[in-house]
Amino acid sequence: MENSQSQTPSPALNRIAVIEGDITRQRVDAIVNAANSSLLGGGGVDGAIHRAAGPQLLEECRQLKGCRTGEAKITQGYKLPAKWVIHTVGPVWQGGFRNEDELLAQCYRNSLALAELHGIQTIAFPAISTGAFMFPIQRATAIAVTEVKQFLEKNTSLEKVIFVCFSSELLNCYLQAVREIIGANSGE
Ligand code: ADP
Repeated sequence: MENSQSQTPSPALNRIAVIEGDITRQRVDAIVNAANSSLLGGGGVDGAIHRAAGPQLLEECRQLKGCRTGEAKITQGYKLPAKWVIHTVGPVWQGGFRNEDELLAQCYRNSLALAELHGIQTIAFPAISTGAFMFPIQRATAIAVTEVKQFLEKNTSLEKVIFVCFSSELLNCYLQAVREIIGANSGE
């Protein structure tokens, strides 16, 4: 008899990808912006997204009146290949005792919930909080992978979640987190 599946694979397994690259170039339905609470632009990935999307993005962001840490808001993508930008505000790392882990997890949960609400099928995330906000990279990538896995286990509409890494160090951290948390290497 054929060997039947002894273990059910995680529904997240084939829907997560890890790549090294620039999130502004991703041809996905939505990219996530690691914004600051003003939503009026900044450095890092936020600056890159605003530059690539053009000034209309800032105009729309002004109307949103900011965003609290852990929450997420959606705009159009304008000149980006992505139709949507989901802006979320990660926590500033302050040593780990200011609810940083939970706030970072909320960024992923709220971004994914907004994506679901808008019928988004493909979404790309940067490593929220790991730049200017100084969240430790291994800890941040473990939280990101855990939250995405948990979401994909319940959601069926999202086809692909891509972790876009801006360095090979980040890429290695994500690949390790995916191996440890999901049990497979999702590198492409
Ligand atoms: P935060 O303030 O949330 O830390 P940053 O933009 O400073 O946001 O950094 C978040 C992550 O985004 C960092 O890992 C940084 O290397 C990465 N990053 C910066 N520019 C890009 C880009 N164009 N595409 C993907 N990731 C980027």
